[in-house]
Amino acid sequence: MGEQYAEAEISLSAIRENTAAFTRRMAPAAVMAVVKADGYGHGAVASARAALDGGATWLGVVHVREALELREAGIGAPVLVMMAIGGDDHAAAVRRGVDLSASTVEMVRCLAKAATEAGRPARVHLKADTGLNRGGATRDDWPSVVSAAMEEQAAGRLVVTGLWSHFASSDDPGNPSIREQVSVFRESIEIAEKSGISPEVRHLGNTAGAIGVPEARFDLVRIGGGIYGLSTLPGGAPGWLTPAMTLKARLIQVKRVPAGAGVSYNHRYVTSRDTTLGLLPLGYADGVPRGATNARLAFTRGRRWQIAGTVCMDQLVIDFGDEPMTAGEEVVLFGPGGAGEPTAQEWGEALGTISYEIVTGIGPRVPRSYTP
Ligand SMILES: *Cc1c(COP(=O)(O)O)cnc(C)c1O
Repeated sequence: MGEQYAEAEISLSAIRENTAAFTRRMAPAAVMAVVKADGYGHGAVASARAALDGGATWLGVVHVREALELREAGIGAPVLVMMAIGGDDHAAAVRRGVDLSASTVEMVRCLAKAATEAGRPARVHLKADTGLNRGGATRDDWPSVVSAAMEEQAAGRLVVTGLWSHFASSDDPGNPSIREQVSVFRESIEIAEKSGISPEVRHLGNTAGAIGVPEARFDLVRIGGGIYGLSTLPGGAPGWLTPAMTLKARLIQVKRVPAGAGVSYNHRYVTSRDTTLGLLPLGYADGVPRGATNARLAFTRGRRWQIAGTVCMDQLVIDFGDEPMTAGEEVVLFGPGGAGEPTAQEWGEALGTISYEIVTGIGPRVPRSYTP
């Protein structure tokens, strides 16, 4: 791991190959690689490039500034900003050919105004709320959103490029809400198309939906976690995906302590015998959750080791027993899992959350390195 004391190593080939696997399996539906939140912590620009190399034809983000970051890096592929926020710089997005989402008549008007300012029509995906009850137009409001968009399209200020929605429980295969949402989405499409809208893409499924609900693939699937080898499905991602991030660090100090030694804040770990402790320079400020206190989630020399006591802001301690560890040795906290190291999926399960929260939590203080 070079000179770094700690790093999140990102395998670009994993991202490329995960995307290629989706591209093959989802065909004829196209793949949007979701690179919001700095590519789920993997680096937005690097992840976007790897995913485009793997066959993705769209990119998805949440904020306008995330889309502009991709454009500034020279990425010209279609990009959708999935969250509509009134105060965002929509004119800048329109100028750079970024697609925007609208769920309300007000947002349709706001994007039309931004288009006038930008001097070109806004590319807009109309979002239906088919049952998540988060963003999106309700069934009652959908016809008025559609007709406002048609008016603006007729006036040349806007082009409806997409119709879309989002699942509530795609990670719970067989949940009855899935079928219900697919059916409401079909109705919403019909209403829009009857009004004369002919979108480039209709899209509904995220990673779990794309994998588990083939009838939800439509023209495009929005793959976030899957691109990085993760999923929210029970048990994690299927075997044809490879986790792309490995979080590792070097021991910065190793020492022997006697039996009965309380370790780290509040001595929540007490050594049961003379033992070797190693200090790893990663803590909760870096995104290693404090909840991992005393968890058996460290890996080196082909084995698991217990985190000894409280995970601190900047560091944590590992109990190595009588293993002759030396300062400078590398310890893996999570990785693809192939060598027996924990995965982000396992961290999520151990901490009562999902792998996404683990990888997106790895903070900016941890340098990212990339392998081709
Ligand atoms: C984040 C997000 C996705 C991607 O979800 P994954 O489960 O990571 O595939 C898709 N659609 C929307 C609207 C999102 O916010």
